[in-house]
Amino acid sequence: MYSTIDLHSHSTISDGILPAVELIAHAASHGVKILALTDHDDTRGLGIARATAEPLGLQLINGVEISVTWKRRTLHIVGLKIDPDYAPLKHGLEAIRLGRHTRAEHMAISLSKTGIHGSLEGAYQFAKEGIISRTHFARFLVEKGYAKDTKSVFKKYLVKGKPGFHEHEWASLEQAVTWIKDSGGIPVIAHPGRYELGRTNMLLLIEEFRALGGKALEVVTGSHTPPMYQEYAKYAKMFGLLASQGSDYHGKGSSYMEMGYLPPLPVGCIPVWHDWPEAKILIESGQSPMDDMTLNACASAIASLGNTASSGENSANSSTSNILEKTIKKLESFNWRNTL
Ligand SMILES: [Zn+2]
Ligand SMILES: [Zn+2]
Repeated sequence: MYSTIDLHSHSTISDGILPAVELIAHAASHGVKILALTDHDDTRGLGIARATAEPLGLQLINGVEISVTWKRRTLHIVGLKIDPDYAPLKHGLEAIRLGRHTRAEHMAISLSKTGIHGSLEGAYQFAKEGIISRTHFARFLVEKGYAKDTKSVFKKYLVKGKPGFHEHEWASLEQAVTWIKDSGGIPVIAHPGRYELGRTNMLLLIEEFRALGGKALEVVTGSHTPPMYQEYAKYAKMFGLLASQGSDYHGKGSSYMEMGYLPPLPVGCIPVWHDWPEAKILIESGQSPMDDMTLNACASAIASLGNTASSGENSANSSTSNILEKTIKKLESFNWRNTL
């Protein structure tokens, strides 16, 4: 059974292939009921996405994916349920976009030194309406025949030590988490398994993120393998963080995962949407976003918090909405810091 909640996706406002309108239609036709649009460093797609989603019966979550430099590495922090009009967030994203343009100029200079000319203009042609990214340079290089597809581009170009790479300083972890949190949103570490940090740095990152007010880890994502789902579920549990999930869909041929095929969160995870009215609406309309496995995951997470009141009733005997109600009440009364 697949989940109907997808909390990570991209449109042409960043490096996705589909414009927001088509992305929403694609999600709805693939059975997604709650979708977060999380374009890189830009929220300009949210208005049109919301207007498109409503008539299709799809609930849109305002999202963004912020580029961060942490210990000289680039990380992505997703913000869910953000207020895109919150001034510090808006200005912060504007500054990052300006930085993206400067980086692109440096990347083009670096590529021209190896005889590849016109890459800045070429990349901007792919960027169309939104931000400029390495993916747009990659698409230009593929078009010009320097690599067979966008994945293989990154073996020869645009990464550390290769032509087209330019070291760039993005937002700090503290800035990203604070902008998201103060705008009323939920900070999430996107696809942690992709950073190849090693255990010590991963623990340091998660602890720093949590101390700054970070709330969730992406556990199930298009760029994690099934063993990674388990690994990051453990990290989430260890640090008292919620678990998020998303396909990170960028469009056909440009994603690890098609929309609508997200497996449920591993047992023991507490879903980031556990107290969202959007999830409640689905339950009340009989389209539960939580399958039995996820409900059981919630129940066992609650049990592991030392709360035994729910142990006499299980998902087989109670309605989905009863279980969710109880889960939410218990979570609300629990102080996460007690787990550390
Ligand atoms: Zn990302
Ligand atoms: Zn992404």
